[in-house]
Amino acid sequence: MEIVVIGGNAAGLSAASAIRRVHQDWKIDVYEKDLYISYGSCGIPYYVSEEVKSLDSLITLTPEKIEKRKIPVHLRNEVIDVDFNSKILHILNHDMKTEFKRSYDILIIATGAHARISSELKLEHERIFYVHNLSDAESLRNFLKESTKKVQSVTIIGAGYIGLEMLEAYKAQGIDDITIIGPRLVFKTKTQEYILKELESQEIKALLGRKVSKLSTINEDTIEITLDDQTILETELLQISIGVSPATEIFENKNLEMLPNGAILTDEYMKTNIKDVYAAGDCIASYHQILKKHVYYPLAPAANKQGRLAGSVIAGKKVDPYPGIVGTSIFKVFDLYCAQTGISVENAIEMGYDAESILIENNEIAHYMGTKKMSIYLVFDVRSHILLGAEITAPTTLGAKKIDTFATALAARMKIEDIQALDLAYAPPFAPVWDPILIAANIASKKLTK
Ligand SMILES: Cc1cc2nc3c(=O)[nH]c(=O)nc-3n(C[C@H](O)[C@H](O)[C@H](O)COP(=O)(O)OP(=O)(O)OC[C@H]3O[C@@H](n4cnc5c(N)ncnc54)[C@H](O)[C@@H]3O)c2cc1C
Repeated sequence: MEIVVIGGNAAGLSAASAIRRVHQDWKIDVYEKDLYISYGSCGIPYYVSEEVKSLDSLITLTPEKIEKRKIPVHLRNEVIDVDFNSKILHILNHDMKTEFKRSYDILIIATGAHARISSELKLEHERIFYVHNLSDAESLRNFLKESTKKVQSVTIIGAGYIGLEMLEAYKAQGIDDITIIGPRLVFKTKTQEYILKELESQEIKALLGRKVSKLSTINEDTIEITLDDQTILETELLQISIGVSPATEIFENKNLEMLPNGAILTDEYMKTNIKDVYAAGDCIASYHQILKKHVYYPLAPAANKQGRLAGSVIAGKKVDPYPGIVGTSIFKVFDLYCAQTGISVENAIEMGYDAESILIENNEIAHYMGTKKMSIYLVFDVRSHILLGAEITAPTTLGAKKIDTFATALAARMKIEDIQALDLAYAPPFAPVWDPILIAANIASKKLTK
C-alpha cells in the first residue's frame, strides 16, 4: 500500500504516524513545500517576542525523528497538481527546480491554510509581514533585530486572535507606537469591552469599525495606509492578519466537494467525496455541533484529532466517527486571557432559538487571595434551557480555561440547571467557593421560561 500525505504539520504527520503505528510495511511519504515540519504556529507570537528563544523550540519532531518512525518527509517538495482519476500527483522540487510525478493508493490532503490577502491590501514592500508559518516568524524576528534603524511604529491590520496576540510581541521588542485596525474584534459581544480596556491600558491605538482601502509605499522605510473614511496613517512595519483561507487551490475544479471558501468537505471519517482521498486540518470544513452545519474554524486541536482519525481509518482500526467541534478558542491579549465557545445570540436567533444572554463579573479566586475580576458571558435558550455559547475574560489562565467546562457542557447539550448542579473543585487559590461558572449559571437560570 502506498500512502501519500500532502503537508508536514499537525494534521499530515498525525495521520502518517497513526498509519505507521499499525502498518510497519506500508510505504508512507510526506511532501512538504516549506523547510519546516511538525511545528507549533501557535508559539509564533512568543517567538517574535523572544519569550521563546529559538525557533527549534517550536519544532516537535525533526525530519530525522520522523524518519526514525519510517516516515520519509520530502522537504521543499510542493504538490502542484493532482489527477484523481489516474491517482497521480505532480510535484515540484524547489531545490532541484525539477518536476516529477508520483502515484498513490491513498492520498491524505493536509495542506493547511494560508494567510488571507484582499485586493486592496496587495502591496510589495519589505516591511509587510504575514505571520503565518515559521519562515514568516523567522523573517519578522530577524527584521526586528537586524534592521539598521530600530522600528518605531507597527500597524496590524486585523483584530482577530493572531493580530491581538502579536501586539504583546511588538511591545516586548520595545516598540511603543502600535496601532491595530479592523472592522471588529474577535469578540463581538459586551465582552469585547474588557479587551478594549486592556488595549487602552497598554496604550495601543485601536481603530475598530474601520477598514483599510489602500496601501502605498512612501519610501523603503514607510508604508502609507488609507482607511475607508480617507484617514491616512503611516507605519514603519505592517502586519496583515485578516484571517486564513484553506490552501486548496490546486484541488479546485476537480470535483472535490468544498465550501465556497475552498474548505474541503469530508464525512465523519475524514473521507472526501473522491475515492481513496482523505483530508484533515486547516484545509477542511469542520462540522459545528451547535450550528449543525459545516463551517470553517481552523484550529490546532481539531487538526491533530482529524489527522489522527484519518490515519486510523486508513490503517483499518475500528474508530468512533469525528463528532465535530463546538467552536472553542482561547487567546491572550497582554494581561487579559480570553476564551470563547459555542455560538452567538444572533446565530442562535437565526437558528430559531429563543436566545438570551447574561454577563457576570466575579472574583477569579477567593477574595482574600486576590481581588482580580473575571467575566463570563453566557448564551442560552430560554425555552429548552440548553447552553448555546460562552465567552470569558480573566486575569489569569485559571479563569480563561473555565471555558473547557462550557465546551463540555455544549458537547453534552447540558441545560443551565445541569451546570448549576456541577460539583466543581474549590480551594481559595483556585476559585471562590461559588465558582464563577456556577454564579453565571445561577444568574442565567433567572431568565429561563419555567
Ligand atoms: C500565528 C499563529 C498562531 C496560532 N495560534 C493558535 C492557537 O493558539 N491555538 C490553536 O488552536 N491554533 C492556533 N493556530 C492555528 C494552528 O496553527 C493550525 O490550526 C494548525 O497548524 C493546523 O495544522 P494543519 O496541519 O492542518 O495545517 P498547517 O499547520 O498549515 O500545515 C500544512 C502544511 O502543508 C504544507 N503545504 C501546503 N500546501 C502544500 C503543497 N501543495 N505541497 C506540499 N506541502 C504543502 C504547508 O507548507 C504546511 O507546512 C495558530 C496559527 C498561527 C499562524
